[in-house]
Amino acid sequence: MDLIILGAPGSGKGTQGALLSTRLGIPKISTGDLLRAAVKDGTRLGTEAQGYMEKGLLVPDQIILGLIEEVLGSAEAAQGVIMDGFPRTEAQAEAVDKLLAAQQRQVDKVLLIDVPEEELVQRMVRRAEIEGRSDDTPDTIRKRQGVYQQQTAPLIAFYDRRNLVARVDGKGTVEEIAERVHGAVR
Ligand code: AMP
Repeated sequence: MDLIILGAPGSGKGTQGALLSTRLGIPKISTGDLLRAAVKDGTRLGTEAQGYMEKGLLVPDQIILGLIEEVLGSAEAAQGVIMDGFPRTEAQAEAVDKLLAAQQRQVDKVLLIDVPEEELVQRMVRRAEIEGRSDDTPDTIRKRQGVYQQQTAPLIAFYDRRNLVARVDGKGTVEEIAERVHGAVR
């Protein structure tokens, strides 16, 4: 099964994706995690991506498309994958379709974690205190919400046209939301 977990920054998609991954036995792959690792290791990808990430901007598609190709072609993802943090643009969504189709696969469902915007910012400020992510400053938090609304939220309509979107209420405890997420893929 190939799933996409979609939601604004701070919606809990990483946490919920990880729980769902354990429950379904399908790996969760996050482009954000891969990019942070690349930055830490000082690879060429990391060097190219770092400036965009620190500003809260999307890393350009010309850089990300190669990473997505690598992810979806990996042995780890061969039996299906939970995509966390990608696709984030229509070009990325088209690439995902093409890469899966080449393996006789397709996007089976898009889980949209729905959280009101005021709560998103509060959650991210809290996460910044706990995790100390360098892109979790108040300025970049606001920037990333705007980028999500402008560049990624249009994907909801893109997948709605194919009837793939399952909306999950993202308010409540981690466990409550996890139950809803799991219910939405059964
Ligand atoms: P995330 O951990 O998913 O919130 O990603 C952190 C940052 O990494 C984002 O703000 C972007 O700068 C970059 N990033 C992660 N995934 C993507 C993607 N699919 N396309 C473009 N930029 C990405």
